Amino acid sequence: TYMSLTAYGAKAEDAVTAAIHEIQRLDAMFSVGNTDSDVTTANMQGSATVSDETAYLVEQSLEISRKTDGAFDITIYPVMELWGFTTKNYRVPESSEIADVLKHVSYTNVEVNGQQVTLSDGASIDLGGIAKGYTSSRVIQIMKDCGIEQAIINLGGNVQVLGTKTDGSDWRVAIQNPDSESSYLGVLSTADKAVITSGGYERYFEQDGHVYHHIIDPQTGYPSESDLTSVTIVCSDGTTADALSTALFAMGLDGAKELYRSGDIDFDMILFDGSRVYVSEGIASGFSTGMDKEIITRQP
Ligand code: ADP
Ligand code: MG
Repeated sequence: TYMSLTAYGAKAEDAVTAAIHEIQRLDAMFSVGNTDSDVTTANMQGSATVSDETAYLVEQSLEISRKTDGAFDITIYPVMELWGFTTKNYRVPESSEIADVLKHVSYTNVEVNGQQVTLSDGASIDLGGIAKGYTSSRVIQIMKDCGIEQAIINLGGNVQVLGTKTDGSDWRVAIQNPDSESSYLGVLSTADKAVITSGGYERYFEQDGHVYHHIIDPQTGYPSESDLTSVTIVCSDGTTADALSTALFAMGLDGAKELYRSGDIDFDMILFDGSRVYVSEGIASGFSTGMDKEIITRQP
């Protein structure tokens, strides 16, 4: 992942150095690719005492699972492995193989008790859909602790901004067009927010003319057949924004609208279905686009 960290002020250099250390520390703790991480230990042992932060992140994941009817589910890990997304040895599994691993997929198999994480029924977890958002929140906090009041960071498409630009105006965050690397869907003016995007175009492989992307529908074990091609969540909490970007992609346009209107979680969103951009009313005035646009209101 390509990352960029920009901070302003007298302590900017120190802040960026501290932020890099923080990213490395969290990656070591959460990564399924690290044999010593909290997550690997829990997956191997079925039950493990983990750091407060890992426990918090698993707990937050479960909360988003409950609020999205399981569209977000960290027990998706064995399915990610089966498709080769964890090793990049991609392949299309047999449907019987998918059925076999799906037996272990359910967030209800995960329990958090203080710092104890317990996985039952052979479940194993992957925080890939939420960890970068937590990391961006932590980086912003570290920068604040260093006395920084203005910063913008981008962790592989996960943007979070602190304060405003140095001239007092809002940050301007461009949202990539999933159909073209050189153009964007629009530009969001914002301050003090995480702006986190998920799309099928970020990580995928092709076989026999089919595109298989890395956001999996936990119901089917196949890449989610979403009617959306890009989902951006705008939220003051990076952790929530990241998990929701993955979840809403899997849920599709109607599910996303419904969750927004339920008021169950405080967030805004920018959705794209390949031809039209849908923007929730909380950020509609700050989003400029040349595309066909529909505003999603709180009241239908
Ligand atoms: P990216 O990591 O490219 O920014 P996302 O935030 O959308 O994209 O996260 C995708 C990752 O989330 C996958 O690589 C996988 O680790 C995990 N994942 C895939 N499907 C789900 C799902 N339905 N629920 C929770 N996590 C998922
Ligand atoms: Mg995500």
